[in-house]
Amino acid sequence: MTSPEPATDRSPSRAVADVDVLVIGAGITGIYQLYRAREAGFTTLLLEAGDGVGGTWYWNRYPGARFDSESYTYAYLFSKELFDEWEWHEHFAAQPEIERYLNHVVDRFGLRRQMRFGAHVTSAVFDEATGTWTVATGDGNEVRTRFLVAATGILSVPYYPDIAGREDFRGQSFHTGRWPTTPVDFTDRRVAVVGTASSGVQVVPAVVDEVASLTVFQRTANWCTPLNNAPITDEEQRRLRADFESMREFLDASPSGFLHPVHDRGTFDDSEDQRLAFYEAMWNSPGFSKLTSNYTDLTVDHAANARWCEFVADKIRSIVVDPGTADLLVPTDHRYAEKRPPFVTGYYEAFNDPKVELVDLRATPIVRVTGTGIETTDAEREFDIIVWATGFDFGTGALNRLGIRGRDGIALEDHWADGPTTFLGIQTAGFPNLFFPGGPHAAAGNNPRYNGDQVDFITQTLVHLRDLGYDVIEADDAAEERWTTMVDSGAATSPFGEISYFFGTNIPGKPRRYLLNSGGRPKLSKEMTRVVDTDYAAFRMTRAPDPAGARP
Ligand SMILES: Cc1cc2nc3c(=O)[nH]c(=O)nc-3n(C[C@H](O)[C@H](O)[C@H](O)COP(=O)(O)OP(=O)(O)OC[C@H]3O[C@@H](n4cnc5c(N)ncnc54)[C@H](O)[C@@H]3O)c2cc1C
Repeated sequence: MTSPEPATDRSPSRAVADVDVLVIGAGITGIYQLYRAREAGFTTLLLEAGDGVGGTWYWNRYPGARFDSESYTYAYLFSKELFDEWEWHEHFAAQPEIERYLNHVVDRFGLRRQMRFGAHVTSAVFDEATGTWTVATGDGNEVRTRFLVAATGILSVPYYPDIAGREDFRGQSFHTGRWPTTPVDFTDRRVAVVGTASSGVQVVPAVVDEVASLTVFQRTANWCTPLNNAPITDEEQRRLRADFESMREFLDASPSGFLHPVHDRGTFDDSEDQRLAFYEAMWNSPGFSKLTSNYTDLTVDHAANARWCEFVADKIRSIVVDPGTADLLVPTDHRYAEKRPPFVTGYYEAFNDPKVELVDLRATPIVRVTGTGIETTDAEREFDIIVWATGFDFGTGALNRLGIRGRDGIALEDHWADGPTTFLGIQTAGFPNLFFPGGPHAAAGNNPRYNGDQVDFITQTLVHLRDLGYDVIEADDAAEERWTTMVDSGAATSPFGEISYFFGTNIPGKPRRYLLNSGGRPKLSKEMTRVVDTDYAAFRMTRAPDPAGARP
């Protein structure tokens, strides 16, 4: 295995641990945590199940995979030099460019030698005597660490619906979230795409021109609106660099972490003509603006939401030529933004191609996958390739599968049997020295902005602990209860409804519990500041009984 750098004088781990800080996950959160912990003088190691850097952007390399966040607002903003030297080519970069960027960051800051790939963590067990974690990987290795940071992602465990015969299919079959590194040839193939949420709607237009036939299996129609991607011009590139500080300030103040201005009017403050003109501007606006810059009452007033939905439905019907297909593509079971809205380029247009068929799984559910295709209640269709765009076990999926055992051997998945309880979305009582930035309860919106806040806070906290000479830190139960109650009660005011995977609804048997923090980034930042101002009263800091592991 890769040897971690030797302990420094400032290392709190002393003899017992191999490293001070072990990070799991080489996504945008884990890379940043590795960087920050190392900069703070801790010895570090990162374990990643995949064979490369990127997390989401390593695994999701399906055709059409790209940002819904503007590239430069998603990117790291901690280094102006890094920002200046990397030139994003599109406002919403595609997966290859994002993967290249994250690899560039890793190499630029010399992080690769502290990363171990193909290292799937299978268990992490806390030892109370030494205040350390023993982390085991599938390849039989073990690492002892003082602090464990599980940056394992919210959308990193792919979900397959329980459909009989899935393994029997003799053609090629892929989940979008586990796409192979070798390109898949769609030329003249009969292709099925199962699922029409954010990933499925990206795949469809990306492959439609190559395939012999494309059958889209839809359970729930989603409110898709245009991404409105474009290349970044030289002038825009110059402006981005010149405006770096003001952009960062804007993003820091934005609840959603986007660069979109908030509108100042409600839907019915405008006349019908004004409203239609505004909707048209929204339709032509970039990405998430349709949610973040829309009328202020979009997600709180059902009549306002219905009016926007009517506009979007008219757009769908104006694009899709066949009225029956258009009808099926208009959602009927949820309001706009009640589920995470997807953004598209050419999705609806694809259905005008005669080789594209839409199958309504509500009317004709899948019975089984056969050796040669998919059988629904009304037909059996043959395919060469099946693409499963069927989502993820959101929020807790990866953490609950890590084999985490805290105090008294308690399993994290048991502790969270009714859904997660956390303080700041970074710690849970009973699991000392374990942190999980980028997990459930953090905030909502442009992920790296608030995941980065969590990493900064964790690093600052570890430095504080080290300065005081403590070995063990654990969220206080009362603080955790307060934060979790805030998260749970925020479900009522969240735009997202129980139909959304943000409540775990897409996974059979998963507790229905809200997994995001409705207070968003401002609430998270405020609470983190409060923790520091109150001298970390929300955490218990102690010395391990036998921190150096010297057995009697
Ligand atoms: C297709 C897609 C598009 C997205 N687009 C956007 C977007 O535009 N904007 C946005 O804000 N968010 C987007 N997201 C959400 C995205 O997941 C986050 O933005 C971001 O990638 C999270 O980074 P992370 O480092 O926290 O987690 P991840 O990128 O998920 O990385 C976690 C890593 O942990 C590793 N890991 C997990 N378990 C183990 C284990 N047991 N052992 C070892 N390693 C393990 C995984 O292999 C993975 O590499 C998108 C998600 C998907 C799936």
